[in-house]
Amino acid sequence: MASSTMADVAAGIRFRTAAYIDGQFVPAASGATYVTENPATGQPLAEIALGDERDVDRAVTAARRAADSGVWSGMSPGDRKRILVRFADLIDEHNDELAVTETLDAGKPISDVRTLDIPDTAACIRWHAEATDKLYDQVAPTGPGAVAMIVREPVGVVGAVIPWNYPAQMAAWKLGPALATGNCVVIKPAQQTSLSLLRMAELASDAGLPPGVLNVVPGPGDVVGVAIARHPDIDAVAFTGSTEVGRTFLHHAADTNLKRVLLELGGKSPQVIMADAGDLDRIVPQVLNAVFWNMGENCSAGSRLVVHRSRKTELVERLVAAAARDWIVGDPLDESTRIGPMITRGHLERVLGYIAAGRAEGARLVTGGNRVLEETGGHFVAPTIFDDATNEMRIAREEIFGPVLTVIPFDTEAEAIAIANDTPYGLAASVYTENVRVAHRMARAIKAGTVGVNAYSEGDLTTPFGGFKQSGFGGHDKSVHAHAQYTDLKTIWIDMAEDDEPQA
Ligand code: NDP
Repeated sequence: MASSTMADVAAGIRFRTAAYIDGQFVPAASGATYVTENPATGQPLAEIALGDERDVDRAVTAARRAADSGVWSGMSPGDRKRILVRFADLIDEHNDELAVTETLDAGKPISDVRTLDIPDTAACIRWHAEATDKLYDQVAPTGPGAVAMIVREPVGVVGAVIPWNYPAQMAAWKLGPALATGNCVVIKPAQQTSLSLLRMAELASDAGLPPGVLNVVPGPGDVVGVAIARHPDIDAVAFTGSTEVGRTFLHHAADTNLKRVLLELGGKSPQVIMADAGDLDRIVPQVLNAVFWNMGENCSAGSRLVVHRSRKTELVERLVAAAARDWIVGDPLDESTRIGPMITRGHLERVLGYIAAGRAEGARLVTGGNRVLEETGGHFVAPTIFDDATNEMRIAREEIFGPVLTVIPFDTEAEAIAIANDTPYGLAASVYTENVRVAHRMARAIKAGTVGVNAYSEGDLTTPFGGFKQSGFGGHDKSVHAHAQYTDLKTIWIDMAEDDEPQA
């Protein structure tokens, strides 16, 4: 049962369901709408404007006008910072409303969304905002006959296409650095989860963001997403989602205006447990959090457990017990729930299909493996662990995006590294060992954008998040590295030579 407080919040929310263009909520140009559902009940939730190419065009026109006018890029960094900090404050002030919206829309457990997603969304906007008036440009070491400044300028209009697994937070990972560096943005949320971002756009406006600087166009990826990817007046596009869709952005950019493409893609991240890994009381919650957090609908999920044979039996027994005890599946509005529903019925079936494939390929199912709470109409699946798998099985190779852990044993360090790296992905990894030399060696040998040592970690706002291999292309979220990618480098060469002196 949902707690009465959260149920009250839910009852009081008025969803914003129109597109947000040029500082106003507007219907789609076609007038069409589509209905989303609550994944915990399968019941209709909201009727959203169904954007198409015309809406992207309207949004880009507004963003271009704002960019060219300098209303945002020409504002002093301190003033830009103040507006964005106010935006972050408003997100915090509306924490319950945004958290409940996110839970109803995406099925994410309210206990996570209230304490992590929405506070982290605000913190991300604030972190990038605070950097606005603290980052300096450069002066090149020329001779006395010239002054050469190397300055960063906003690219202009940034397009963004984001997924449904962390709707508010993924928006912030793009909006924080793109807006802080003075760009105007046209962003498309995932069809299933537009509500928190539409409300955030309104809060940004309340904070003082000028019209046209942030535009939100809801609608289907193959229409709105493609229109953003191909638009000739968008200068850079940032995407988070599947590797399959991500690679199409490169084609679209190549076929159109060579816009910069920044891709955050999928993963099949290893968690490596060495023979000398420390206390299992510490390790077990980390391992389960890595794979079951957000129902496993997480690009950095530690979905492969690569474990030394000598530790496997005890570790798996402890994992099975802790999964049953701690990872309660249920109504995501209930504070005690840790696993909500899969995002859609189709996705539930996809996850169950992988579980069937694991069984068929001979992995040993030790817990879960089935749909649960079917009577609610929601798309719930039990947290699932397969033991004695090999890295060749589909459950070890493909991104399941559900609460499914695949356990693969190893005997030597070299074998552990080979298994960890034997994947087309390279987003994240973790290594558990008490030996600092082994930790350092493994952290350097594993090809992944983030390697946690003795913890599952995506780092924090100060560290870049991006993928090696087919987990990413040209992009990093978070940290000052994210700022750089939304800017162009310009050299300004000023001739300082006295009348007849040769230039430096
Ligand atoms: P997608 O990659 O299809 O969706 C991500 C975003 O891209 C959504 O906004 C989507 O729009 C949009 N999109 C979809 N098709 C296109 C297109 N042809 N051109 C431009 N934009 C497009 O992921 P799914 O939601 O379908 O999930 C499928 C799988 O992808 C998951 O099971 C998971 O394995 C992986 N994934 C990885 C994510 C990550 O964080 N790395 C996040 C989400 C998924 P819309 O959905 O509105 O049509």
